[in-house]
Amino acid sequence: MKVRVLGCSGAIAKDCRTTSFLVDANILVDAGTGVGDLTLDEMRKIDHVFLTHSHLDHIAALPLMLDAVSSLRATPVMVYALPETIAALQAHVFNNIIWPDFSTIPTAAQPLLQYAPLAVNQQITIGARLVEALPALHTVPAVGYAIRGGTGWWVFSGDTGKNPAFWAWVNSVPVSLLVVETAFSNRESQLAAKSLHLSPSTLAQELSQLRADRAFPIYITHTKPSETALIMDEIRQFDVVPLLDGGGAHDIRWLEAGQIFEL
Ligand SMILES: [Zn+2]
Ligand SMILES: [Zn+2]
Repeated sequence: MKVRVLGCSGAIAKDCRTTSFLVDANILVDAGTGVGDLTLDEMRKIDHVFLTHSHLDHIAALPLMLDAVSSLRATPVMVYALPETIAALQAHVFNNIIWPDFSTIPTAAQPLLQYAPLAVNQQITIGARLVEALPALHTVPAVGYAIRGGTGWWVFSGDTGKNPAFWAWVNSVPVSLLVVETAFSNRESQLAAKSLHLSPSTLAQELSQLRADRAFPIYITHTKPSETALIMDEIRQFDVVPLLDGGGAHDIRWLEAGQIFEL
């Protein structure tokens, strides 16, 4: 299984694109601005889009991508998301005001976009891939995702605050690579708590729930461009000097757009 990071930034700027991952050639996880780096041919091959939640940084490129491939596809693009996320897309994006309702275009019987509601812990098989929706706790209904590769699971937290159910799941399966958000630095920890995101101090608390025998690379995502260096410094401090029982010495790295992982 190949996972290509199209975008992993908490905001846009030159060379900073928001959340999106291309899995193999046909699965997209979130549709942030990173999608804009795909060629038309790469976009045309995406049959399945898994959305974590309705926030703009995770869906911004979906309407534009569908429009770009509209004349190139004969089958619908399946969009998997929580029912609340689908309802938000229908009401606020594909409402014939912001963008056409592609779930009825070109015809209702053969649309360009088809919604597929999913539930937390539901598994969906796509060819050789198994995708599971994971619990997330955010200001709107949200999920994370895990996809099983040949060497273990690729796990993505999505946008989330403190989330014990997520770490319990991570402890229960063989993980190859974990992507976890840390959207804010410690100086903005109050904003992080209010917006249900993590900061380095809450990430430390979250990582203390990992079983001691768990060893895999942990990639930090969703940092704001202006805060990235500070966030990574703060994470290095807690990881070099264990602050919590059983903490410290995780293999923590910064996720970058353009990285490709083979799992
Ligand atoms: Zn969000
Ligand atoms: Zn976000």
